[in-house]
Amino acid sequence: MLKQIQQLKPNVYDYTLPELEALLQGWGQPTFRARQLYRQLYVNLAASFEAMTDLPVALRARLAEETRLGSLDLRREQMADSGDTRKALWALPGEAVIETVLMRYPERATVCVSTQAGCAMGCVFCATGQMGLLRNVSTGEIVEQVLHMQRVLRTNGAHLTNLVFMGMGEPFANYDRWWAAVERLHDPQGFNFGARNMTVSTVGLVPGIHRLASETLPVNLAVSLHAPSDQLRSALMPVNQRFPLHELLAAVQEYIERTRRRVSFEYVLLQGQNDTRELAAELADLVGGMLCHVNLIPWNPVPGTPLHRSHRRQVETFQQVLVERGIPCTVRVERGLEIAAACGQLAALPAGMPLVVA
Ligand code: SAH
Ligand code: SF4
Repeated sequence: MLKQIQQLKPNVYDYTLPELEALLQGWGQPTFRARQLYRQLYVNLAASFEAMTDLPVALRARLAEETRLGSLDLRREQMADSGDTRKALWALPGEAVIETVLMRYPERATVCVSTQAGCAMGCVFCATGQMGLLRNVSTGEIVEQVLHMQRVLRTNGAHLTNLVFMGMGEPFANYDRWWAAVERLHDPQGFNFGARNMTVSTVGLVPGIHRLASETLPVNLAVSLHAPSDQLRSALMPVNQRFPLHELLAAVQEYIERTRRRVSFEYVLLQGQNDTRELAAELADLVGGMLCHVNLIPWNPVPGTPLHRSHRRQVETFQQVLVERGIPCTVRVERGLEIAAACGQLAALPAGMPLVVA
């Protein structure tokens, strides 16, 4: 019961600055208090209301009474790659679970954020797709995943340099909440994270691509392509029946023309399915001439699927065909395979897996 009451309290991370101002004014507080609170949330990254020592004690008590500082319940944290990859598993109010992955490199640190618990898109190669959609992640819950990883980094004297919306879920199927999180995280008065260092990956929802093209913040776009023909793409990704390749690529081209930004095409390599030299040439025909980059992703195993990852030689040949055609093409470096934190493995397996960090 107590837990349910806790869950009904509004989450402060769901509030914009003007909304916090309205809330605190309603409590009879002077106008500047909301800004103080906002700085505590997004600049100091306060982990509790008590830690906000520049706010009056009575206000801190009221905030704790009537709101909550985040709504994610950390259930498990696992490490891989000698501590350079960290995966957090969270329970959301209502018990759905999501995951967040932090990847550290010598010169940068990237957080991969979930925008939905599960996903309705049903791509056959993806663990999240097998779950179906449980629920959307709220703006505050998206923001909180990032703040958590920034706190982790801060204790080591480091900070986030890149933010990718490539965790569980399809960001454009939760566009409004996702975009509000982008704006919050970008806000120079708060977290102040550059939009140019953010990338969103979409399965290919055309209306979302149009919307992103018209936004003022320069968030980067990655598009999951995975096949150069409608027949093959529809077999792997049901969404292709709704938005076939010609529509998808027309939307991407329009995005490029409006924004002048290079788009990244993701291509998961599945042995014997979409990884032949001929298909590489077809892909080159399809995207050649566009301001783009192809990111090949060796498929990460998902239990219960009959699929296999392509052999390394096959990946190299595929890449070579594209490069010879003048298309910039890289192979994504794997992270967190042993803790199922790699692309497409995020399915929030039930607890009981070995804990590395509690
Ligand atoms: N829903 C979005 C973003 C999340 S998935 C999208 O589909 O684009 C991020 C990337 O991981 C996508 O390109 C997706 O196709 C890819 N992916 C999914 N399952 C994978 C797997 N098992 N191995 C490797 N990549 C996978
Ligand atoms: Fe959803 Fe992306 Fe997985 Fe497809 S690949 S099921 S869109 S999360």
